[in-house]
Amino acid sequence: MARLVVLGGGESGVGTAILGQKKGFEVFVSDKGEIKEDYSKVLEHFEIEWESGKHSEDKILNADLVMKSPGIPDKVPLVKQLVEKGVPVISEIEFASKYTDAKIIGITGSNGKTTTTMLTHHLLKDGGVHVGMAGNIGDSYAKMVAEQDVDLYVLEISSFQLDGIVDFKPHIAMITNITPDHLDRYDYQFEKYIASKFRIAMNQDQNDFLIYDADDKVIQNWLKEHPVQSKLLPFSLKEKQQEGAWLENDKIKINVEHKTLDMSIDTLALDGQHNVKNTMAAGLAAMLVNVRKEAIRQSIQTFQGVPHRLEKVLKINHVEYINDSKATNVNATYYALDGIKKPLVWIVGGVDKGNDYSELMPLVREKVKAVICLGMDNSKLKEAFGNVIDLMVETYSMEEAVKVAYKIAERGDAVLLSPACASFDLFENYEDRGNQFKAAIKNL
Ligand code: ADP
Repeated sequence: MARLVVLGGGESGVGTAILGQKKGFEVFVSDKGEIKEDYSKVLEHFEIEWESGKHSEDKILNADLVMKSPGIPDKVPLVKQLVEKGVPVISEIEFASKYTDAKIIGITGSNGKTTTTMLTHHLLKDGGVHVGMAGNIGDSYAKMVAEQDVDLYVLEISSFQLDGIVDFKPHIAMITNITPDHLDRYDYQFEKYIASKFRIAMNQDQNDFLIYDADDKVIQNWLKEHPVQSKLLPFSLKEKQQEGAWLENDKIKINVEHKTLDMSIDTLALDGQHNVKNTMAAGLAAMLVNVRKEAIRQSIQTFQGVPHRLEKVLKINHVEYINDSKATNVNATYYALDGIKKPLVWIVGGVDKGNDYSELMPLVREKVKAVICLGMDNSKLKEAFGNVIDLMVETYSMEEAVKVAYKIAERGDAVLLSPACASFDLFENYEDRGNQFKAAIKNL
């Protein structure tokens, strides 16, 4: 019996363990941290051996195959040891793909993965495709492969998942955009991070497709130097494309495989230029799998959006409150500031990941009337915006930040939480931050 060791007992680890057991592996799950009770119960239920709080080398180094969860860096000594011994260390998507014949739409990028994944799934599902969705959302891909039978998977894929692929080959790949993120995992070399994202296309051939943002210079330049085999389907807000998607007179135009579609952007349920792009990407994929045009047009209007991504919370005294807690980098915040057409009271801050705020300056000058800093250390924000914004307040809890925002905001303004930073100085994660924001608004 081949021995599968799963490093990391979270969603993807437990899913992989279940699938591995079903496929006849002897499975062992090891997590150096804690395994949540929900997950350990599942492992018990399936009678899968596991440990937490340590990595027992004698039970790991004898593996025939290792699935490493995306949170564990390659630099960890145990992982290095395995690689040196010649044990294949792969990611969940690599493992699970071996056990399904379903077509795959794989979606990666620095921002917009979750939104585009959910939107693509929504278009396909409404269009009658028997489709499953996995990634950071809901059940893991491996668990779905173990328990369900669908014709197509829409997968949200991080660069860490892509680092652990060998043969993974999506029929349709998407790269929503590439901006510097997670560089600590890539030796602070942007090139390495870009290369990692492009691994999504490395096994594709002429019958496959790569959908990408043609306005993104990073992607454009990389493709010039590193051509891919698959058929290119660019989307753009700026330029007409021969084949792909673009904007013309406030209409999204799609032209792919001799089929065309146009949709007015007024009918989109989601606001913001970035969501026009996400819609183009999802629309292209839906056309490729033959969803009817009318079905696409209709379901574009009914997509509800995703919590914590420019989520409209409430209107109080004609002031709109918007939760964009998932904006953990400058690029995501750029689209929030750009997309909202009202004067803004902007709540920003947290753990700075080496942010360069200069890109935001024109928008901040134009739209932001007050900056509310919310972080343990706000010095970088003060330095960046202190001379630009008259009203700047430092706060150290969400409740305080929202109360101050409420006092400052006037009829017709919007209060926007779009932190451009990670959340773990004051919050558990971005969801906790967004939920505290919503709760504080409801308590006003
Ligand atoms: P990811 O899963 O890649 O983190 P999300 O869909 O969760 O992406 O969105 C993360 C943040 O980025 C949100 O603030 C959202 O409003 C913003 N965003 C969504 N799509 C895009 C895009 N195409 N370009 C830039 N920012 C985006």
